[in-house]
Amino acid sequence: MQKLQLEKARAIITGASSGIGQGIAKAFAEAGAAVIVNYRSDEEAADRIVGAIRENGGKAEAIQADVSTPEGCATLFDASDQHFGGLDILVSNAGIQRDAAFTELSIEDWRKVIDVNLTGQFLCAQEAVRRFRKQGHDPDRSPALGKIIFTSSVHQAIPWAGHANYATAKGGVKQLMESMAQELACEKIRVNAIAPGAIKTPINRDAWEDEDTRKALLQLIPYGRVGETEDVANAALWLASDASDYMVGTTLFVDGGMLLYPSFREGG
Ligand code: NAD
Repeated sequence: MQKLQLEKARAIITGASSGIGQGIAKAFAEAGAAVIVNYRSDEEAADRIVGAIRENGGKAEAIQADVSTPEGCATLFDASDQHFGGLDILVSNAGIQRDAAFTELSIEDWRKVIDVNLTGQFLCAQEAVRRFRKQGHDPDRSPALGKIIFTSSVHQAIPWAGHANYATAKGGVKQLMESMAQELACEKIRVNAIAPGAIKTPINRDAWEDEDTRKALLQLIPYGRVGETEDVANAALWLASDASDYMVGTTLFVDGGMLLYPSFREGG
């Protein structure tokens, strides 16, 4: 089977020093893309990922930036211009959780999650569109002027008690993605999202590390396993490649069937 290619592509992956982001950065670099590996605080991890990519013959740069600020986002695009001469793909992946029962949820934790998970995705996407327009379309590179992939979650659709801030942000990402796709498709900017289910990363260590909680989690996944970062990276690679050129405004769920309301298999 022919592997998906991102030859000549230049990509920014936010929150790429761990979890899903690092998986996407490695997969993109392996497919031929030059990648900006964004990190917020873990410089050592970002350098390790960049080192592994370079050892493999790929191109990567580790860039520190807080995506919840306009200045932070601009830093990433300036770095892509400086190191790679422009940008073709943004994967807006950075995200956090600050969980609490509804009446215990502080305004700080509400704001922090909305700032990173929703406003951060908005800011980076807005900057990407401005840069794509300025750069202009080169059909030899891709039929698209640019591609934006948001990282949503099954919780854009499934309500999540104790995580109202997170579910609200991801529901917002869905509307942001679809509104942008509707507005920008005529300029050949492809906007889509990936919505992971339960993937083994630091963000949800509590849910998969302990035997009992892992068993409970598996009850929610018809396919019978917790997802790996590669599962999401493979989907992101396809969405970023020209093999998905007709995909516009779609959320790709990568969830082992979590969205299928598995408890209705016996109940209901
Ligand atoms: P993770 O904690 O490993 O990765 C999140 C990354 O975002 C970290 O590297 C973190 O440093 C970075 N980050 C946080 N705030 C930032 C900021 N202000 N600026 C820049 N970077 C920042 O967890 P993950 O599971 O890899 O999460 C990646 C994305 O996938 C998130 O958007 C998350 O909501 C989403 N997601 C994950 C799962 C899952 O099961 N793991 C499920 C659905 C959605």
